[in-house]
Amino acid sequence: MPENLIGKRVDVLDKGYVELQDLMPHPASGISGDSAIVSAARVSFLGESKGPEKDKKLLFYLMRNHHTSPFEMVEFKLRVRAPLLTWWQWTRHRTFHYQSANAQSGRYTPFDENDFYVPSEWRRQSSSNKQASEGTLEPDVSRELTDKLIAFYEKGYALYEEALAAGVAKEMARLFLPGFSVYYTWVVKTDAHNLMNFLRLRMASDAQYEIRVYAQAIFEHFFKPALPWTAEAFEMYVLNNPSQPEGAAT
Ligand SMILES: Cc1cc2nc3c(=O)[nH]c(=O)nc-3n(C[C@H](O)[C@H](O)[C@H](O)COP(=O)(O)OP(=O)(O)OC[C@H]3O[C@@H](n4cnc5c(N)ncnc54)[C@H](O)[C@@H]3O)c2cc1C
Repeated sequence: MPENLIGKRVDVLDKGYVELQDLMPHPASGISGDSAIVSAARVSFLGESKGPEKDKKLLFYLMRNHHTSPFEMVEFKLRVRAPLLTWWQWTRHRTFHYQSANAQSGRYTPFDENDFYVPSEWRRQSSSNKQASEGTLEPDVSRELTDKLIAFYEKGYALYEEALAAGVAKEMARLFLPGFSVYYTWVVKTDAHNLMNFLRLRMASDAQYEIRVYAQAIFEHFFKPALPWTAEAFEMYVLNNPSQPEGAAT
């Protein structure tokens, strides 16, 4: 695993990011995450590593046969900055989120005038799926909408500042801010098993773009380098296997 993975930050959307803050097993321990998974599985018969070839084979067996608990032996701690519309969906992942999360406090820290998500393009409502989007609006219509959105943010932020100046508490002044668009920063921790469930659901094409890009960033920049065997098996048996029953192998 690359030594410099911890502390690495990847930009997502216009002002967001994902940063890997910590990993268990820590790279300094000299134990790879894949080995930690294999050695947890081998405790069943009080065994240890049998060399890379047999260890990798065992890990693929675990993934293929939904033997999930060894994957819980690896943990990722991430610092994430994302708009609230992304968090709204993220918090639905109970095992990922509610167990281990700390969020920025809008009661304590005032918001900045640039803390709002501005999309690079506007997607059309899907004609076949009431929850989805498809294609994008024409560039001139998009530009006009973006200008209106920014003007809306500026107006909301001016009212927020006005309320603060009038002595209103930050916890109430934020009522003037456009809720779904505001960026929040969280620290979240999860294990590889539950992270795979999140990645499977949120990297899928039916997931909203604004959460899919976070899931893809986590998978490409952190999950794959930290757990190369697990990522390979996950791609083979879960991501590229649509017949996999929900929740299987994750
Ligand atoms: C495309 C898409 C659209 C969605 N649309 C909606 C929507 O319109 N409205 C909405 O409310 N949600 C929606 N969701 C959220 C979805 O219903 C799940 O809540 C979310 O994806 C988290 O999945 P999960 O329950 O597997 O994850 P987690 O909450 O992390 O749970 C992981 C696993 O733990 C187990 N588990 C966790 N809690 C319990 C429990 N209390 N009882 C039994 N088993 C449990 C289950 O096996 C579960 O799969 C949507 C998700 C996606 C991907």
